[in-house]
Amino acid sequence: MILSERISHIKPSPTLAMNAKALSMRAAGIDVISFGVGEPDFDTPKHIREAAKRAIEEGFTRYTAVSGIPELKDAIVEKFKRDNNLSYEPDEVMVSCGGKHVLYNLAQAVLNPGDEVIIPAPYWVSYPPIVVLAGASPVVVGTQEADDFKLSPESLWAAVTPRTRMLILNSPSNPTGLVYTESELRALAEVTLKHNIWVVSDEIYEKLIFDDRPFYSIAQVSEEAKSKTFVVNGVSKTYAMTGWRIGYVAGPSEVMAGMNKIQSQSTSNPNSIAQKAAVAALNGPQDSINDMLEAFDQRRKYLLQRLNAIKGVHCNVPGGAFYAFPNFSHYFNAKTEGGTIRGSVDLCEYLLTEARVALVPGAAFGDDSFIRFSYATGLETIEEGLDRIEGALCKLV
Ligand SMILES: *Cc1c(COP(=O)(O)O)cnc(C)c1O
Repeated sequence: MILSERISHIKPSPTLAMNAKALSMRAAGIDVISFGVGEPDFDTPKHIREAAKRAIEEGFTRYTAVSGIPELKDAIVEKFKRDNNLSYEPDEVMVSCGGKHVLYNLAQAVLNPGDEVIIPAPYWVSYPPIVVLAGASPVVVGTQEADDFKLSPESLWAAVTPRTRMLILNSPSNPTGLVYTESELRALAEVTLKHNIWVVSDEIYEKLIFDDRPFYSIAQVSEEAKSKTFVVNGVSKTYAMTGWRIGYVAGPSEVMAGMNKIQSQSTSNPNSIAQKAAVAALNGPQDSINDMLEAFDQRRKYLLQRLNAIKGVHCNVPGGAFYAFPNFSHYFNAKTEGGTIRGSVDLCEYLLTEARVALVPGAAFGDDSFIRFSYATGLETIEEGLDRIEGALCKLV
């Protein structure tokens, strides 16, 4: 069978691939420590699970409205009002099968071949392929570790062409943990508004910010900025609900209608039971978030201190999410028994075989000098993993 040309343009998600490799080593009896996973290691809170059970018992098991049940859309509208001071009508929000699916539908609904989408690097692995699958072109703009990986208005401006349609922003960021401040977002919005560029603001880690720093959305900059922003969010990270597959977006109703059309001809509605669970998540008690955040913060501090204590390694302080993104380029060109470590992919492969530690190479996120550590894993595991990494790095010459 000949596969479509489209398929030849993309690769499977490298983060999921790394996880699969670690899982298969584990299945073979090898004890692998994984810093590879991109999901909270907590259980979905009980009241959310109970809501799902109730939905099943009450027979809420049929097709629903494609773009989400009114009850969930109302809860989303309420959430935006409560948390972000943003007002939307129910027809300006839409529910899909996860934030990733939202981004996919959005790209399919608004992008045309020839359109350019600016993506600051390091970026979340799925942004470029989602743009490519819509026939458009990702324009990757590099950032500096010294600037905390933040996109500057100047470099944004320099990347704009007459074909630029969209900018994808992610704050707090996966993989770097950076969090944009209000004034930084105001400065970026000035450029996007001037050049009539849409902003996709991926706010999936909104609730996972440390040191009591406030969260700010670029949609809050002004009414005009809001009218040109798609705010993407979901329940996966905030409520430890990655498997439930519920994400949502807010933006102009005509685009929501376009996304609805695409969703109606592909997945139809998101899972009915998961939608009821998401209602409970958004409307119910929020204290589970704080418990999770405290655990993440403790791990963050420990991991950061351990990473920065490794010879030649430097790691910025991540302000949010549950990742650290240290610079490991000091070890490039080092020799192993098998050959030379040429970059982040080689180093991660070396650490997987030599230290039995699974990591994701920075190359997957568009910056080869780094390695991503997810600390969605217990403190003892982090300690053991770092011991192993240090041991393996010592063997490099
Ligand atoms: C996890 C993640 C998402 C979406 O996850 P879903 O499970 O599809 O909701 C979106 N953006 C980033 C940056 C993520 O890390």
